[in-house]
Parts: sequence; structure tokens; C-alpha cells
Amino acid sequence: MKPNLDLQSRTMLKAAELYRTKVRIAILKVLMKADEPLSQEQIARRLGKKHFDKVTIYRTLESLLKVGLVHKAFIEKRAWHFELADNCTESQCHPHFTCTSCGSTHCLTEISLPMAKSPRKGFIIHRQQVRLEGFCPACT
Ligand SMILES: [Zn+2]
Ligand SMILES: [Zn+2]
Repeated sequence: MKPNLDLQSRTMLKAAELYRTKVRIAILKVLMKADEPLSQEQIARRLGKKHFDKVTIYRTLESLLKVGLVHKAFIEKRAWHFELADNCTESQCHPHFTCTSCGSTHCLTEISLPMAKSPRKGFIIHRQQVRLEGFCPACT
């Protein structure tokens, strides 16, 4: 049976004590269906006919980030890419693999790397994000 994404997103919002607005539900569903982090522009495109303006999408992402349902996976071409935060802890996100041949990015949720220790006095590490590069299965 296909999981009911609508119900799932409503449950997530309820648990985070956020109002279940149309746009929040729509964006969560887009992120649930995606198997890679998406930029705001990609999210807007995948929302398709449900046309929400840029500011609405931006504000919605901010509210989802604030309660920790969504997080920023990495920055690429000067745009943050977002994904659901369910596979991550506050300090560490799973590594992301980018294919240098086709440019696709994949979540490597099965890898967990030891958290780096602060190299010097005065540096405080809050979060670890790892980016790996190579060839994806389609390009090898
Ligand atoms: Zn590739
Ligand atoms: Zn990811």
C-alpha cells in the first residue's frame, strides 16, 4: 500500500505544533516524494499547478526549518537545498554524494561518519555536513 503522504504531513505538522496550512502540506509532500535535497526553485517547480508565490514558499520553508522538520542539506549554485530532517540528528546529517559526470546528488543515509572534533581552541562545531564526489551507478 502506498503511504498516505497527506496524512503523514498532517501528522508531522501536528507534532511540531504548526498549523496545517495547504502550502506546508504541499511542500512536505514534495520533499517526501523527492529522493534528493531540492532547492527552493525545484520545490516551486514540483508544486506545479498549486501556484504559491516565492515569498510564501520561502516563509514556509523557514517555518519548517525552525521546528526542525526540514533542514538545509547543502548549498549548490548559490542555492540551499532542502530535505526532510527525519534521517538526521541536530549535529549531523547523512553524507551527500554528487556524481561529477551527470551532476545528480544522492542521500547516503546508510553511512554515518564519526563527528569531527574541534581542531583548535576557539572553534566550536555545531554541525557536520559531508559531501562526497565520484560516479553514480548510472555513470560507471
Ligand atoms: Zn551520474
Ligand atoms: Zn539527504
